[in-house]
Amino acid sequence: MENCIFCKIVDGKIESEKIYETASIISFLDINPKAPGHSLVIPKEHVEILTELEDELACEIFKVTKRVEEMLKESLDADAFTIGINDGKAAGQEIPHLHINVLPRFMGNGGKPIHSVVKNPPKEEVPKIAEKIRKTSISP
Ligand code: 5GP
Ligand code: ZN
Repeated sequence: MENCIFCKIVDGKIESEKIYETASIISFLDINPKAPGHSLVIPKEHVEILTELEDELACEIFKVTKRVEEMLKESLDADAFTIGINDGKAAGQEIPHLHINVLPRFMGNGGKPIHSVVKNPPKEEVPKIAEKIRKTSISP
């Protein structure tokens, strides 16, 4: 897609520190890392959010994310990882091309768990919310 920074990275029009690549997915280091080895995993095809990604690529992108974790564990001796997607504008997504953040975590690094990014507990009871969700037309 024209004017998309990540499409330009895919096309080689913008330089990046690529660390892994398949026919449909690439991974490269974030330009503004929040941790050593902070990596992004993206589909080569331009989609904005996860639900726009076809199932086959959803499997592939998770497979690559697993490989990238293995690479970062071996090279940087990471103790753990936070895997996250800002999946839409309201979630803080700035670049509208789907990207999975792979953040290496180290014991005592002072970071918090992923739950700390949202503080919006529901007013309704959990079973009521579950009922609402189960009524949707999405089948397994
Ligand atoms: P978002 O807020 O959209 O979820 O995150 C975008 C991420 O992409 C940020 O972590 C940002 O540092 C990274 N980023 C933005 N522009 C570039 C770039 O040109 N190259 C690379 N490698 N990362 C970028
Ligand atoms: Zn794009």
